[in-house]
Amino acid sequence: MPLVEIPSFWLLFAPCGCCDGSAVGARDDGFIRCATADDALKMWAPTKRERDRMQRDGWTVRALQSTDDHLALLRTKCPHGEG
Ligand SMILES: [Zn+2]
Repeated sequence: MPLVEIPSFWLLFAPCGCCDGSAVGARDDGFIRCATADDALKMWAPTKRERDRMQRDGWTVRALQSTDDHLALLRTKCPHGEG
């Protein structure tokens, strides 16, 4: 099995491009909560119907990069309003 690097966090981005949340990928002790972006999406949208709708609406999940300011991303309030 190839070694896949699992990020410490996954970030959820709203259709407007703002960060809307984060989910744990792999903890420092090695415990893996969300191995893939799809696993992370399930934290926010447990049902396939919700996930399909979010993906259709343009929500995306990507790994937290070392260059990302995690807290700043989460603290920045979306200025684009609802939907
Ligand atoms: Zn926004």
